[in-house]
Amino acid sequence: MSTRIQILPQDVTLKIAAGEVVERPAAAVKELIDNAVDAGASWIRIDIREAGLKTIRVTDDGDGIARHDLPLAFHPHATSKIQRFSDLDRLSTLGFRGEALASIAAVSRIEVQTRSAGEEIGSRLTVMHGEPATCTAQSTPVGTRITVSDLFANVPARRRFVRSTRAETARIGEVITAYALAQPSIRFSLTVDGRPTFESPGTGKLRDAVAAVLEPAVLDDLMTVQHREPGVDVTGLAGKPTLHRPTRSGIHIFVNGRPVENRRLVFALEEAYSGYLMTGRHPIAILSLSLPAADVDVNIHPSKSEVRFVHEREVHGAVYRAVTGALSSLRPEVPETPVEVVTGSGTPLLALPEPASAVPAPALRVFGQSNRTFIIAEGPDGLYMIDQHAAHERVLFDRLTEQITQRDVPVQPLLEPAAADLTPEQTAALDENRELLIQAGFHIEPFGDRSCLIRAVPAIAARSSPGELVSAVLSDLASTPRTDAAYERTLATMACKAAVKAGDLLDTHEMRELVVQLESTAHPQTCPHGRPTMIRLSHAQLEREFGRR
Ligand code: ADP
Ligand code: MG
Repeated sequence: MSTRIQILPQDVTLKIAAGEVVERPAAAVKELIDNAVDAGASWIRIDIREAGLKTIRVTDDGDGIARHDLPLAFHPHATSKIQRFSDLDRLSTLGFRGEALASIAAVSRIEVQTRSAGEEIGSRLTVMHGEPATCTAQSTPVGTRITVSDLFANVPARRRFVRSTRAETARIGEVITAYALAQPSIRFSLTVDGRPTFESPGTGKLRDAVAAVLEPAVLDDLMTVQHREPGVDVTGLAGKPTLHRPTRSGIHIFVNGRPVENRRLVFALEEAYSGYLMTGRHPIAILSLSLPAADVDVNIHPSKSEVRFVHEREVHGAVYRAVTGALSSLRPEVPETPVEVVTGSGTPLLALPEPASAVPAPALRVFGQSNRTFIIAEGPDGLYMIDQHAAHERVLFDRLTEQITQRDVPVQPLLEPAAADLTPEQTAALDENRELLIQAGFHIEPFGDRSCLIRAVPAIAARSSPGELVSAVLSDLASTPRTDAAYERTLATMACKAAVKAGDLLDTHEMRELVVQLESTAHPQTCPHGRPTMIRLSHAQLEREFGRR
């Protein structure tokens, strides 16, 4: 093997660069749509076969490419959109790097048919793995049709990394629906293997685009957002708090017409909903930000879907204020409900939460405890056996969820910090979930590579061993991807560690309070892990058992 340094031939550098621009079929679709939007198209048609690996065809009615420019379009760094770097400060197009067509061409076969408005007759050009071919005359309408065939056929490694046909097709669908929302005046349509699967009306009204992308039923629950601050406009639609989803799939944010990925913008949006939505639920919102091109840096990543702002805090603040403004118009004037506080003498065994509102008279009459594990009670319709641990878990879980949603988690500082030994996975989880742990009421400091110091725990869990609690929570966070379900499981673990155990002796007062609290939860029948908290023997069952029926 040669150790000399040498400059790589262009076909190699192009293939390498193509890895960044077109890492998967959906990225090629995105680039072709960008170009059609930049060409001023009023409609864009996308046809894909075999998840785009066989063909991707994008047809538009835009400006087209003049014959003498056509071969140039496939040159790396050939663009009609900017001439000098400072033009980025005035950028009004989605593209500017001049490398998309060259990159796609390096890893596929391309055919272009196009005609610009000034030409009598159009042109046709084929490009094979980046190799230029001659340009011929062809009669074709004004606009451009680009057909990309056998994507990645000449880069087997890339092809191996492409996921299932279904996943890739779904991703392409997401790209197209995002553009349909970002550009409501363009009519988008998609066919998959010849089947029409999506169409947006292109009326210029965001609500019409939303009706095509999400279900039309959500329209009634979307509030109009129109908010202007110096240097940034925020417009769009934001869901009422009654509209929520388990994932962030209903959140779309556009910056100067460009679908972007920006976790902090999403965070600013979700901040506005905090207190309105349960933990683990996400709003629906379609927001367009317009700001001067000089205030946005889109040149961060070749795919141009990440952006940075010169005035980051102001932009986040504007999103937050735009949405809180819309939400506050909904908030009715609610008189404060008096809160009944459960009081006891000394430190109660149960960290019983305060009832959220006046508690109805308990439907269950508590008789006593069986085997230090089950509470026996009577209701109007039979005899109840309640698992004291499961019941307390449910009560604590709901309380904790509410405290976190309200950003009001009472914290119990430890007189002496407790130490806990950590595995490398737990150490990483501690590092990655710092914010979340603080929100949940923990104060934990890393202590060397393999342990941590616990200075405070959520007050609800004050009774449990801090070391065990933290270790269990970190294991949960380490073993699961960061999804809402994983987050809920972590809360369930906290509730489990903090709850009374089977074997704990409870007095009548404590049992009664626990039952009252359980009844006021949203799901009194099951613990956060889904196991039953109570079983019932109906009067009819008892009568049958005693041979009375
Ligand atoms: P960029 O979009 O960054 O300029 P591309 O490689 O995507 O670079 O495209 C190169 C050039 O080809 C564009 O600048 C544009 O002039 C032309 N072009 C590509 N697609 C189209 C299209 N659909 N309609 C009109 N012109 C196009
Ligand atoms: Mg482009």
